[in-house]
Amino acid sequence: MRADKLMAHLGYGSRKEVKGLLKKGILTADGKSVKDGKTHIDTEKQEVEVFGEPVEYREFIYLMMNKPSGLISATEDETEETVIDLLTPEDALFAPFPVGRLDKDTTGLLLLTNDGRLAHKLTSPKHKVDKEYRVELAEPLTKNAREKLEAGVELDDGYETKPARVTQTDAATVIFLTIQEGKYHQVKRMMAACGNHVKELERVRMGTLFLDEILEAGEYRELTDKELAVLR
Ligand code: URA
Repeated sequence: MRADKLMAHLGYGSRKEVKGLLKKGILTADGKSVKDGKTHIDTEKQEVEVFGEPVEYREFIYLMMNKPSGLISATEDETEETVIDLLTPEDALFAPFPVGRLDKDTTGLLLLTNDGRLAHKLTSPKHKVDKEYRVELAEPLTKNAREKLEAGVELDDGYETKPARVTQTDAATVIFLTIQEGKYHQVKRMMAACGNHVKELERVRMGTLFLDEILEAGEYRELTDKELAVLR
């Protein structure tokens, strides 16, 4: 990574600001001061110090958020508040992005990372990763609707969904639905295709990653090493 990018990531200001700091020789790699922002630094192999203090740098960040309703799952928006606005400035410096989109009114599990490889693995249809939702319906789920969902339903644009898994609960209007796709408004459109309507939608699981119930709406935490290891 370039020295100026590293300094910016460490919170020493914008690339322009850190340029001035670098000129003063505050960054050293293996004991030698690095004054040119373009110099490549390998934080894995070199001993890097800023102001004489060793630097612990990591490239990736993995955050589990309990997305609240009312925010959009994008990195920026001209008018709307985004999930990134909930992050501390330190975490936002890693430039994480949401893995897969949830609608503005959908709540629940949202993974935020800057690891493009993992994001691709979790969202690409090829990898068939489960996305499980708790769905609150306007009407009780009928037997016919359940069979349709499990077989695959035709959406309003003619797309035929892959078979979904349905788990019914004690409440006739609450189900858990597991799909391995991520079409636009997919769950809402699947329910509409069955003559029903989604009142509330919450994602509770993505692959092996379960929403931590400790997290209040709008809170987030880093993934544990174990969660990350099995997710990869
Ligand atoms: N399906 C939807 O309809 N909305 C979401 O936010 C996620 C899945």
